[in-house]
Amino acid sequence: MTGARQLRLAVIGAGASGLMALIRLREAGFQDVTIYEKAETLGGTWRDNRYPGVTCDVPSHGYRYSFEPNAEWSRVCAPGDEILDYLKNVARKYDLERSIRFGEEVSSARWCDGRWEIETTSGPQGAFDAVVTATGVLHHPNYPDIPGIDTFEGDAFHTARWKDGLSLKGKRVGVIGTGSTATQITGALVPEVAHYALFQRTAQWIAPLPQGPIPEEQKALFRERPDLLQAEYERISHENNSKFAAAIVGANPRAYEKLVQVCRDYLETSVRDPELRAKLTPTYAVGCKRLILSENFYEAIQHPNAELVTDRIERIEERGIRTADGRLHELDVIVFATGFDTHKLMRPMEARGQDGRTLDEVWAEGNQGYLAVTVPGFPNWFMIGGPNSPIGNFSWLLTAENQFGYALKLIQRLARGNVSEIAPKREASRRFNEQIREALPGTVWATGCSSWYIDRHGNIASWPWTFEKFEADMSEPQWDDFEMA
Ligand code: NAP
Repeated sequence: MTGARQLRLAVIGAGASGLMALIRLREAGFQDVTIYEKAETLGGTWRDNRYPGVTCDVPSHGYRYSFEPNAEWSRVCAPGDEILDYLKNVARKYDLERSIRFGEEVSSARWCDGRWEIETTSGPQGAFDAVVTATGVLHHPNYPDIPGIDTFEGDAFHTARWKDGLSLKGKRVGVIGTGSTATQITGALVPEVAHYALFQRTAQWIAPLPQGPIPEEQKALFRERPDLLQAEYERISHENNSKFAAAIVGANPRAYEKLVQVCRDYLETSVRDPELRAKLTPTYAVGCKRLILSENFYEAIQHPNAELVTDRIERIEERGIRTADGRLHELDVIVFATGFDTHKLMRPMEARGQDGRTLDEVWAEGNQGYLAVTVPGFPNWFMIGGPNSPIGNFSWLLTAENQFGYALKLIQRLARGNVSEIAPKREASRRFNEQIREALPGTVWATGCSSWYIDRHGNIASWPWTFEKFEADMSEPQWDDFEMA
């Protein structure tokens, strides 16, 4: 980066996106980069989610950094600890930890005299030329508002706060929720526990996902033939983007019809008891809630020690969960598989922009940005996973790399020296959000269901277009849409 201005840069979060941002920034010649990470170790969601059965739900040969192939995945969808190890290995290979400040949560970021003044839980960190937020969307556990939740005498915890070392063997376990997390836990725990009760408020559509081990010969072939490994990455990405992702935004009706049929057939052929099948049949469109992929949920829930409870939960008591039919489900352990507050994004930090307003104030009616990466009034503030990111569409790593590639071009512009502030024009952001509002009704997310894509104001927080449009939008900033000073 000879001749360029050296910038002081802060990245918030040492999960998969933050680590990638650090690698890319160093490659581009930026040496003064610090990642602030609230936890004591790296890995983000793959560090936090250690529940039994946790695996990726995208085939792993498609869920990796584009620049770091891995021939060693043990299964089609790798277990969570393998993905965490992958991230740790990447961090080791690129010597990333020397730039990470662990145990330091960013509490505030204020735009002051043309730079971001950052404060963490350890105190003021000084001024930075730009900030990259890489805080993910699935990191604020959502605890249910159930009366008596604190009265339970056994162990009770959220899936992202798993009680390591607690043996569930021979215990009576109740799991609340039926999302991707609960589905994976069901397959893993039913064979182990004495009694398993799954408390379902809403049935979920499930597509089958063959999850078998990857044979040694296959791994050896991938080790010897990087071209084949790369072809597999591209095949999986293309398959997901052109079929599933296009189907749910209304751009591939044939693929959508097929998806519906696959889910219906899977339920029909997997669940023998018509009464149970009826309980497991959703009343909304396939893909409206995040589609679940599983190879063993239906089998597990039909196991003799498993029970699907569909009566409404009335309260939690000392000895278990009381449902509206008056029954007390006696339990030793309650697991809250109740998801995340996905709209908090990088908050609770206080981020105060150019005109003194905080993100909380600017986003009081819902999170809004320009192309999901920048926000008017917040110069040199770049988000991976900002508002209306494709959270329901593509592999997160592919999304993060594309968004950061775009942000990097803006950061490089700052480094060239003739510009020190870049923020999107309000008009550009208004136009983008108008287009979002026009496109969302054509997506399956708007067909009538509750989901973690929808915020408390009813805004759908995902990207309503195809991967091709996303890739094109991220390929080069529309410079006219930015104010530069
Ligand atoms: P989720 O999809 O938001 O599911 C939360 C579940 O909890 C829903 O079934 C919800 O019911 C239920 N629930 C919430 N509050 C409740 C209450 N007060 N009483 C009863 N039930 C309640 O959360 P998640 O399963 O943790 O998954 C979140 C996302 O994480 C996934 O969609 C996926 O993107 C990601 N994830 C990925 C993987 C993977 O790749 N391996 C694995 C797990 C999760 P309602 O439907 O009625 O609201």
